[in-house]
Amino acid sequence: MALSVRQRPLLKELTTLGLGGAALAEAVVRAEADLDELGRFISDSGGRPFVLGGGSNLLAEDHDLDLVLLSVRNAGTPERSGDTLRCGAGTRLPSLLKFCEEAGLSGLEALAGIPGSVGGAVAMNAGSYGTEIKDALARIRLWTPQRGLFWVEARDCSFGYRHFAPPEGTGRPLVWEAEFSLTPAEPGAVRAKVRETLDQKKATQPIAARSAGCVFKNPPGQSAGRLLDEAGFKGKRLGNMGFSELHANFLVNLGGGRSAEALELLENARAVVLERFGTRLELEVIVLS
Ligand SMILES: Cc1cc2nc3c(=O)[nH]c(=O)nc-3n(C[C@H](O)[C@H](O)[C@H](O)COP(=O)(O)OP(=O)(O)OC[C@H]3O[C@@H](n4cnc5c(N)ncnc54)[C@H](O)[C@@H]3O)c2cc1C
Repeated sequence: MALSVRQRPLLKELTTLGLGGAALAEAVVRAEADLDELGRFISDSGGRPFVLGGGSNLLAEDHDLDLVLLSVRNAGTPERSGDTLRCGAGTRLPSLLKFCEEAGLSGLEALAGIPGSVGGAVAMNAGSYGTEIKDALARIRLWTPQRGLFWVEARDCSFGYRHFAPPEGTGRPLVWEAEFSLTPAEPGAVRAKVRETLDQKKATQPIAARSAGCVFKNPPGQSAGRLLDEAGFKGKRLGNMGFSELHANFLVNLGGGRSAEALELLENARAVVLERFGTRLELEVIVLS
């Protein structure tokens, strides 16, 4: 089957924040065979390659972007072998958690409510409530145009706060599959932990709004949300973008928002927090410009 390519995909339709102009092209990669054509597609495209997962951590600018999107969509039913679970990087975390609930496998429950793909979660080392995806990761299968597909052990990679780097010399790979090492548990107990996490998030985060999750990283020992709140940014709007009333670190598209408004709000917030508290906020959201 030929690699599926479309021209000028709109990033506002591919990101949860709903912002962004047209990229040059998008290659949708569903099966291993599609990877055979991907290297050629990248070199022929003339654009900057960008691997796209669920688009849930991205703030794309509204003008045309010279990006070629490599959309990883190899979602399928995860495969279980004992306590090990293997799945495609295109699998959404909520589907993975649903599988874990039914299979009675524990370890990922704290990641409930994160809407991204497994590949994006590995690339960001996504985490919440003290758990990071790396904690349950055993191996990942990577792809680069030079090497094709190959497995690496998670312990040979470097993970930090919203940071992942593959073993040295690997370049910037696409994550194709992940293998998790989990703990057997009662399905009901796994389900209860997932529910508890979701209930906690629903009470404190605007999880149904158009956002990219937390826009700033928490500075060491501090909460970015608290700093933004104390600096007066909770609920602060500019045009149709605004910091959530529920959680000051969530930037929300209220409908028809623009990237210029989003970036101005982020800049203002950074400047005020720096002036008031001497703390430099670092972006967690990835800006595509
Ligand atoms: C309501 C909401 C709640 C959120 N809560 C949390 C939270 O609690 N904790 C948290 O950490 N994040 C949270 N996020 C942010 C986001 O969901 C995570 O960062 C997620 O891991 C991003 O995954 P994605 O597939 O959407 O990646 P994308 O946004 O598509 O991409 C993010 C980065 O990952 C790279 N990437 C994506 N897929 C691959 C791949 N297959 N191979 C290589 N690189 C890839 C991209 O190139 C980019 O650099 C939240 C977002 C929303 C909207």
